[in-house]
Amino acid sequence: MSTKITIAIDGFSSTGKSTVAKQLAKELGYIYVDSGAMYRAMTLFAMNQNYITNSNFDKQSLIDNLENAHLKFVFNAELGFAEMYLNDKNVEQRIRTLEVSNFVSTIAAVPEVRRKLVAIQKEIGKNKGVVMDGRDIGTVVFTDA
Ligand code: C5P
Repeated sequence: MSTKITIAIDGFSSTGKSTVAKQLAKELGYIYVDSGAMYRAMTLFAMNQNYITNSNFDKQSLIDNLENAHLKFVFNAELGFAEMYLNDKNVEQRIRTLEVSNFVSTIAAVPEVRRKLVAIQKEIGKNKGVVMDGRDIGTVVFTDA
């Protein structure tokens, strides 16, 4: 029987969640999952498709095309953590831009987006052995963490 557990680290933006989560995952040999990176990647998708611009947000088109956004984490052995991929492209750098940061809360407020990402997060964590950080991981994604 696996003795692995699920670790949720919740907290507000810029409080050091990912720093602690990454170190903890490394120490335990667990998978670190940056849930914020997933919301950022969905934001980049919306920007790439012109669903969101400085003057407009076409929420319905985003919702209608959610299935065209394929998110996955790919472990980078050199860095020691997994990087975010959107439709098979490494977007780790692009999701950290100011433009993405400015739009991400609008995209993260869309219930259909949250439902999709929470489902992926639950799937990644179903075998335990994960450290996931975010604002809703202990309260919504893994309530038994
Ligand atoms: O953690 P990070 O700052 O990269 O997250 C980016 C944004 O994604 C947050 O400011 C928040 O709007 C959204 N987010 C969320 N739920 C999570 C993680 C991030 O709504 N679990």
